Amino acid sequence: MTEHHMTEIFEKKHSLMITNVMADGNVVDIFVDDSGTIAGIGENERKKRKGEAEFIIDGEGAIALPGLVNTHTHAAMTLLRGYADDMILQDWLTQKIWPLEAHLTAEDVYRGTRLACIEMIRSGTTAFNDMYFFMGDAARAVDQSGIRAVLSYGFIDLFSEEKREKECKATESLAAQVRSLNNPRIKAAAGPHAIYTVSREGLQWCAEFAREQKIGTHIHLSETEGEVNDCIARYGKRPVALLDECGILTPRTVAAHCCWLDEAECTLLGNRGVHVSYNPASNMKLATNRALPCHWLSEAGVNVCLGTDGCASNNNLDMFEESKIAALLQKFYWNNPTVLPAQEALSMATVNGAKALGFGTGKLIISAPADIVLVSTHAACNTPLHHASSNLVYSCNGGAVKTMICDGKVLMLEREIPGEAEVRESAARAADELVRRAQGS
Ligand SMILES: [Zn+2]
Repeated sequence: MTEHHMTEIFEKKHSLMITNVMADGNVVDIFVDDSGTIAGIGENERKKRKGEAEFIIDGEGAIALPGLVNTHTHAAMTLLRGYADDMILQDWLTQKIWPLEAHLTAEDVYRGTRLACIEMIRSGTTAFNDMYFFMGDAARAVDQSGIRAVLSYGFIDLFSEEKREKECKATESLAAQVRSLNNPRIKAAAGPHAIYTVSREGLQWCAEFAREQKIGTHIHLSETEGEVNDCIARYGKRPVALLDECGILTPRTVAAHCCWLDEAECTLLGNRGVHVSYNPASNMKLATNRALPCHWLSEAGVNVCLGTDGCASNNNLDMFEESKIAALLQKFYWNNPTVLPAQEALSMATVNGAKALGFGTGKLIISAPADIVLVSTHAACNTPLHHASSNLVYSCNGGAVKTMICDGKVLMLEREIPGEAEVRESAARAADELVRRAQGS
């Protein structure tokens, strides 16, 4: 550290020099200017810019990675972590999750999202794609946390026209709220929940709204076989064809799960430029009985990224763990240990995610936003260091992250996050009160 006091580093964006850090196999210095951009990266950057940086971060003993991007989650569900496990998906939703969610307040969502952001900062995630309720309050939490998010209101009309009008209003109001925040780290998206919870009219409205507002769309797609069969029974076609007819499939769309796609559906998603979020931990925990057809999606040129899903079905937001589970599930399910190698799994968690959410390049290069994660090479999980990508995916988890920078602002330094205890305690209280309210009813 320089002459500045260490806590000052958290107060705002500063120019930073990260010295002697390992990046893409080379030892380099990374210079971040005070606008939050990577302005220099190379072997002699420190010498070249002597005295330019307000703070020096010693990167010796660390690997620098671009920030991880979680492309499908329900952040405030941290409050439901461990509340109900080991159940059949439909029972789990109808008996446990939905009854509890019926008692959620805006303040709960705020506190749950704050906790989620802390957990993401701790495990190196700099951006996430969220779908839930009371999203104006989620936006407030993200704004304060310092990380990036695309926020969508979970649009569920249950095939009722009356309910649909309410959902349209909620979607419009979130877009307006996010616009008024005027924070480049936060974007709104349309969030039609899924084809089994949203009518054709609702899907069409969401597609039109997203197009008009030039915002993204976030949807659950073909998570279960039942969902596909019901769609064929109701509409006489498979889910991807239905979504295409409704105008949902665009290069700004992120479709989560996608376990039960057939080959032709993968091709169509590729033609439409849709991004697919792979959620292996959630799929395994809820036993969707099929893994994402990663090889078909890759052949179709689909950008496949990674997401944790909510904390009720995972039960954490650790994208390092997710990348390991992602690789293992592909190998196991498709019975081939060569599919989804470590480097590809890591790209899914970084570059591909950044591309899906439209947050920079997901690479540590000049003029990229400074979303940088430093992972300790002194951790046991990172020793010895034969292949960095192998350790990062198969051996380490988010606990090996020591420092995290988003948009040029240091959010965690040597595992310290200012104000963390208060956020954690307040979320724990909110979760206890939520369960008490639900049981009292
Ligand atoms: Zn989900």
